[in-house]
Amino acid sequence: METKTKSIKSLAVLCSGGDSPGMNPAIRSVVRTAIGLGINIYGIYRGYTGLLEGDMHKLSLSSVSNIIQRGGTILDTSRCPEFHTPQVRQEAAHLLARKHIDGLIVIGGNGSFTGAMNLHKEHNIPVIGIPGTIDNDIAGTEYTIGFNTAVQTAINAVDNIRDTASAHQHTFLIEVMGRTSSSIALQVALCTGAEQVVLPNQGINYQDIADTIHKGVARGKTSSIIIVAEGEKEGVCYQIRDTLMKQYQLELRVCILGHIQRGGSPTALDRTIASKMGYAAVHALQQGHNAHVTAFNKGEVELVPLTNCLGKRTEVCDSQLDLIRALAI
Ligand code: ADP
Repeated sequence: METKTKSIKSLAVLCSGGDSPGMNPAIRSVVRTAIGLGINIYGIYRGYTGLLEGDMHKLSLSSVSNIIQRGGTILDTSRCPEFHTPQVRQEAAHLLARKHIDGLIVIGGNGSFTGAMNLHKEHNIPVIGIPGTIDNDIAGTEYTIGFNTAVQTAINAVDNIRDTASAHQHTFLIEVMGRTSSSIALQVALCTGAEQVVLPNQGINYQDIADTIHKGVARGKTSSIIIVAEGEKEGVCYQIRDTLMKQYQLELRVCILGHIQRGGSPTALDRTIASKMGYAAVHALQQGHNAHVTAFNKGEVELVPLTNCLGKRTEVCDSQLDLIRALAI
């Protein structure tokens, strides 16, 4: 890993793509670390959209007071399709040069990291990525900021649904977020004692779902919870419900948890990892590291080349799946 200590005077930080709880503690950490090192720190609002519009402001110690406990992001975020165009990225590079920004910290998912990588490759802008997405699906890091909070929010919701499912003897299909990632579904299923977890990306085995429900009924269960990963498209639960009704005459209720999983006060884990990553990101730029991500692996924050983090981590943890099944008998 090349390290050339650089004289860094000014840095900028932005959030891009989907927001996640823990972005604020990460911003706070970046700002306080930079100021502590005598570096000017600018906040860019609304991700790459704000960068293109020059919507950036110098942040102070008090700009990040009282935000460690807040979900969302004080810098706001956006999706910026224009940033896919090289000419547009050139404008962004000119703008950063005009403002004498020596390095950019991007908090987001792998789409945002791809934008940062392109900016770096084409214009030699020093960039560091901080993984922030509830989906925990970025290659090269075992953890992304926001995952733990999203899981806890979903667990609380499922616990509430279990109360009513039990009172009314209902079986519920509960859809959790995660797009192509199964991480939230697996964790929530394990922690809520779900009778089953369905991962549409791995295929839907209707016979298996029906068998699980019938087995539960046979051993005296009057209600069940089935956690469903959203897969490519929100609402897959309705299709599963309709098929189970048509083919097996099973009557199920549906609940899609949706965006409540994105918000809320970050958990202790998310605040801790966000604080460590923000600190590491600023120090990385100051020490001359470039095009890296503050990854979390084997219990530690470490710098991993950005190129290792551009893909999605989609593998299913088979041991967790086995555990969920073993405990749901
Ligand atoms: P996430 O960062 O959460 O994965 P997206 O995939 O929506 O979210 O990406 C966020 C933003 O990153 C996009 O709106 C775009 O501005 C930028 N981006 C994504 N992919 C690229 C790319 N290939 N080149 C340049 N910018 C990109």
